[in-house]
Amino acid sequence: MRTRAAFFGRVDPEVYRRNPFRVADLPVHATARDIRRRAEELRVKARLGADAGTGSALLPLDPPPDPDAVQEALQRLRDPLRRLEDELFWFWPAHNAAVRGARDEALEALGEGRIEDAERLWTEPAPGRAAAVAAHNLAVLAHARALEAGSGDVRDLWEPALRHWRTVLDTDPFWDLVAARVREADDPRLGPGTAGELRERLPAALMATAAQAAVREYRDGRAERARTLSFLMDHVGFDDATVDTALRDAVAPETDRLQALARSAVDRAGASPDTGCDEAARVLAEAEPVLDGLGAVLPPDEPLLEGLRDEIAERVQQCAIIYGNETRDWSKPEGILKRAEALAATATIKTRIQKNLDTAEDNLLYGTCWFCDERPADDGAVYEKKMYGDVTREYSGYGIQIRWRKLAAPVPRCTACAAAHRGRGRTVALAGGLGCAGGLALAVVLIAAGAPFVVPFGLFFLTIIGFFVAVAMGNVDGLPRKAHATVGAWPPIREKLDAGWMFGEKPPNTN
Ligand SMILES: [Zn+2]
Repeated sequence: MRTRAAFFGRVDPEVYRRNPFRVADLPVHATARDIRRRAEELRVKARLGADAGTGSALLPLDPPPDPDAVQEALQRLRDPLRRLEDELFWFWPAHNAAVRGARDEALEALGEGRIEDAERLWTEPAPGRAAAVAAHNLAVLAHARALEAGSGDVRDLWEPALRHWRTVLDTDPFWDLVAARVREADDPRLGPGTAGELRERLPAALMATAAQAAVREYRDGRAERARTLSFLMDHVGFDDATVDTALRDAVAPETDRLQALARSAVDRAGASPDTGCDEAARVLAEAEPVLDGLGAVLPPDEPLLEGLRDEIAERVQQCAIIYGNETRDWSKPEGILKRAEALAATATIKTRIQKNLDTAEDNLLYGTCWFCDERPADDGAVYEKKMYGDVTREYSGYGIQIRWRKLAAPVPRCTACAAAHRGRGRTVALAGGLGCAGGLALAVVLIAAGAPFVVPFGLFFLTIIGFFVAVAMGNVDGLPRKAHATVGAWPPIREKLDAGWMFGEKPPNTN
């Protein structure tokens, strides 16, 4: 007894293109002798240098099959089980094989390219065998056209294909004919249950062709068509589990590839942490469009898709953090983590990534010099701004008791900025000091030399103004005036100022 998995092991969107009856141009009920004769014909043709033709006239193949494909098709027909499968995916004659010479108007019409005529004849069939066969032929025709149409409306193509097959599956007389074929084959590899098993397994095979066609659509950048096809699969009477399995199987190669890609990115980032962000960016570039496409094929709340989004997002996050911890550069991880957060599906993973993003943003804030916003901050060059706040006044027997809290808010600074700040302070102080001393000395000299009183007095006055100018130009609390003005905008200080804190060590008028 064959295992079930042996049926339809290789059904995909090429099922009609590869069908041996079509490729080798043989009727479904061809006998072993017919097949031998056809093989001989082809050998003669090949010797004469003639090509193998375009396969069956019922649905000519474009491009035509090459001689190897035809040989392979003939070979395939020797396996009774695969032959039965192939018979299911090809046109059946209205009459039993025993009725030799009987006309089949519909197949004649199809062979002459009069597709509408064939369809019409199958839509109004004679009763009995002809009716069962007609339903099946309509399914085959619609399905082959849906799979092989390069364009056209997805719904117009696929809805009849799936509905006709649904009818075939529900038509007992057709399956009686299949059972009769099994008996005729009279092969020990086929048993009395074969027809029933084929009938049971066929829905999965049909859904597999549609699911793979949907994946092909989205991969070719036609997500909307993929979405329509996936929706149709769900709404023409096939059971949900079969549809879901087919869709999941169809996307498996893509999901497996993404998972492997993300895993190896983490491995490589672990081996050389400074490549972490490049690895993460590569995974994102690859995964983002694919995950969007999978969203078109699979329902959005499909657990498989959610799990995959979370998994990729987490691995991308890992790469970014490995990079940040190694390089102390948090500007690149920040962008990567934002994309990872957008990619994640569930709240749990989104929250986890958001926490890391907050940390990265903090690291970025404290890791970059606030003054030049360019060079990394240096621990030894941090500028500290003294602040006080939470001032309270208590009245007691001794008078007013003022209390306050104070802190030194660290502002990240690079060594270069720190040196520039100190240097400028010294220069202004030195120039101011020398200027004042020079002015005063000159005034004394002028008085001693007996200059009119107004000249040294004016000079003395100018020196005093110069002193104040120097003070005004000098450093404020260790910073050039301009730099000092930006300190209030440093976010942690901004927060304190907004909360009522002030610059300085203590409230005015306190001891
Ligand atoms: Zn700097």
